[in-house]
Amino acid sequence: AAKQAGDTARRWSPALDERAGEHTRLGGEIRLALDHGQFRVVYQPIVELPSGRVAAVEALVRWEHPQRGLVSPVDFVPVAERNGLIVELGEWILRTACHQMATWRRELGEQAPDRISVNVSARQLARHGFAATVAAVIAEAGLPAPCLAVEVTETAVFEGGQAVVTLNELRDLGVRIALDDFGTGHSSLNLLQTVPVDILKVDKSFVDTITEAGRHAVIAEALIQVSHGLGLAAVAEGVETAAQAEALHRLGYRLLQGYYFGRPVADPNFALSTAVATQD
Ligand code: C2E
Ligand code: CA
Ligand code: CA
Ligand code: CA
Repeated sequence: AAKQAGDTARRWSPALDERAGEHTRLGGEIRLALDHGQFRVVYQPIVELPSGRVAAVEALVRWEHPQRGLVSPVDFVPVAERNGLIVELGEWILRTACHQMATWRRELGEQAPDRISVNVSARQLARHGFAATVAAVIAEAGLPAPCLAVEVTETAVFEGGQAVVTLNELRDLGVRIALDDFGTGHSSLNLLQTVPVDILKVDKSFVDTITEAGRHAVIAEALIQVSHGLGLAAVAEGVETAAQAEALHRLGYRLLQGYYFGRPVADPNFALSTAVATQD
């Protein structure tokens, strides 16, 4: 009966039909894009206060499509997750980012960031052998394990199982674990008891409203206290204004990421950021 309903829905809903067709098309093009080298990795600074030093960078994938132009990861990563190509694409992103980080360490020495953060999808984490792949990639790049962090979302790990096994294996390697979009899920605090975590990435939604009067800053403050209490690092995401940066700094945030400090680019500037408010 379920199959029947599905078929009917496909036959009778042109909108759905178009969307499904679009996904199939995109899915096929991702395969070609991998073969033709249309993906790039860009890097966004994560700035440490009050020094203004770029302490870390987050690697973010870009698709330079010959006809469509720049396609957002919001549009193609979910498609790649569904058709399984995220495993191959994700490994390419990981390898590219780790080699770039190793190059910066060689070329910049002390000026290089301490860590590169790479987004890893649920599908990758759920695979046996993902930790072994990570171990091989960092060895090949000559990158010490603590120089790599994997960013995972709550939904990728909340069901437990192999994802949590993988995280423990990565932890054992010395790779850092960052919980992405922290605070937006249904069991964010509960997860901290079951999943090995080093870094909380406090979601942009808490940063957006931080300078508004009233209750908005309370959650951002509670989350930094949780991170301090558990001995974790906290990164505030999506910082767009000086006022937000100042408010976060006042609440105790020491690691900030957002357009205010720099957009994701191929070749970030690692010089000290002068745009940081350092009043204590
Ligand atoms: P995310 O991991 O939460 O990454 C943060 C997103 O916010 C990035 O969008 C970044 O460019 C954007 N951003 C950073 N600062 C600001 C700001 O100040 N204001 C605003 N409005 N946006 C800001 P992007 O690169 O388009 O990536 C979107 C999402 O796609 C990511 O969210 C992540 O879930 C996924 N993604 C991106 N790259 C990868 C990847 O290499 N692998 C996987 N599995 N997913 C990826
Ligand atoms: Ca992320
Ligand atoms: Ca995020
Ligand atoms: Ca996000």
